Amino acid sequence: MADKLAEYQRMRDFSATPEPAGHVVENTSGRLRFVVQRHRATRLHYDLRLEIDGVLVSWAVPKGPSLDPKRKALAVKVEDHPYAYGWFEGNIGSGYGKGDVVLWDDGWWEPDPAYPESADPAKAVAAGELKFVLHGHKLRGRYVIVHTGGRRKAGGAAPSKNDDDQWLLIHKNDDDAVEGWDPEDHPHSVLSNRTNPDIVEGTPGRWTAPTKAELQALDAIKDKGQWTVAGETTLLTNLDKVFMPGRAGAAGATAAPITKRDIIRYYAQIAPWMTPYLAGRPVNLNRFPDGIVGAKKGFWHKAVPTHAPDFIRRWPNPRASTGETRDYMLVDGAPALVWAANFAGIEIHPWTSTAANPEQPSYALVDIDPGPSTTWDETLTLARLFRVAMTQLDLVARPKVTGQRGIQIWIPIRSGYTFHDTSKFVEALSRTVGRVVPELVSWQWHKNERRGLARLDYTQNQINKTLVAPYSLRPAAGAPVSVPLEWDELDDPKLRPDRWTIRDVLPRLAKVGDPFVAIVGVEQDLPAL
Ligand code: MN
Repeated sequence: MADKLAEYQRMRDFSATPEPAGHVVENTSGRLRFVVQRHRATRLHYDLRLEIDGVLVSWAVPKGPSLDPKRKALAVKVEDHPYAYGWFEGNIGSGYGKGDVVLWDDGWWEPDPAYPESADPAKAVAAGELKFVLHGHKLRGRYVIVHTGGRRKAGGAAPSKNDDDQWLLIHKNDDDAVEGWDPEDHPHSVLSNRTNPDIVEGTPGRWTAPTKAELQALDAIKDKGQWTVAGETTLLTNLDKVFMPGRAGAAGATAAPITKRDIIRYYAQIAPWMTPYLAGRPVNLNRFPDGIVGAKKGFWHKAVPTHAPDFIRRWPNPRASTGETRDYMLVDGAPALVWAANFAGIEIHPWTSTAANPEQPSYALVDIDPGPSTTWDETLTLARLFRVAMTQLDLVARPKVTGQRGIQIWIPIRSGYTFHDTSKFVEALSRTVGRVVPELVSWQWHKNERRGLARLDYTQNQINKTLVAPYSLRPAAGAPVSVPLEWDELDDPKLRPDRWTIRDVLPRLAKVGDPFVAIVGVEQDLPAL
């Protein structure tokens, strides 16, 4: 089975490319995944990939796929790609395929039921003609891909530049056909809403906030009703239910209680700022279906429920073992955040790694976790020591307040590191800081052995261990927010770990912007300590 990917793996140096090494997976969802990636390599092309028998059978389509039946697109069959590649976008800095890749379209596909000879897709591809139906965001309807010339290439065969394995990709003249439809008119990623130049420049995606009219429509709904934001409709329920008491005296905040409508409105409006830290990453939700009124506890929810709408992008974790969550949600904009908020997912915790490369973290995380006797000044002392360390190590990083009592520091890293690497690095860094102020820090695992001292928790640097997302709400009176900071804000006497709430984060962003923009797309080596 693994031989199918031998050619793919032979052509790449996984210590240098951000692409996943991947492996053959077993399909348990019953739906076959397809993706199209827009790839600016030596020559621009689109890669069409169909999941067949645990890998992505792939064609490079120079002019791109279309909905126009009159466009017969040349497609060159290339090596099978691993299933994980279907979640990849990024910048391939060197080597084979050098260039930038966006996840241009995805969805599911099926053999065209009108043609029994396509019912076994592997056989149909081997015979040189596959008729299939795409159910994507951009591409929909019935297609045929047919071999026209050049040397036939089975998965695993060596590539040959002079003797391309040539096919034609054609959209049938069905109800989904659109004459004159040009893929170049639709350049944005379906995963991150970025374009190819955005990927190169390291720009966070451009996600849209709800329009004034959309917000008015939300206000006009009584306690329950359909709301359409950014083109997707969600049924909202219990809008006027109080989820949290207000917090009197907070800057800019009134003591008015916080309703589910407030929470949904917040997550819709924060989407352009928050989605860069969520896109392409599985998320865990901390749900409070009854709010925090009455001191009810929340619970972790990882699996996407079957009743979730189709626009929720699901990532089946191919490594999930029996009994483990398989289908995670990927947040790709305001509609997904609105759905999660209506699902009472008050707190959002993204993975440190992406769905394309779950074993490779993109950040090293420092978690300053105050103990019961740690004062805010002591927490700040610890954060400032990390600031000194970052300066001395010449590392770009930014802190954020958690919205509860702590401070976390995000250090962006290049691709290629493992969680073992980030965990070891943050442990060494934390122990160095801890040695400066041993009276403030405990290394005991058990809370009751820590004598009330702070913990510098490097153990969060692990797959599926998550910290609260930038701009996530926290379940407490006033709905405080985990807010990214500039380093010098640690010296602001007005700073508090829960200083900003649902009611004053957006005005702050309008005024000072998002300090974490400085860490998006930054690729750094972890220095030896
Ligand atoms: Mn390509």
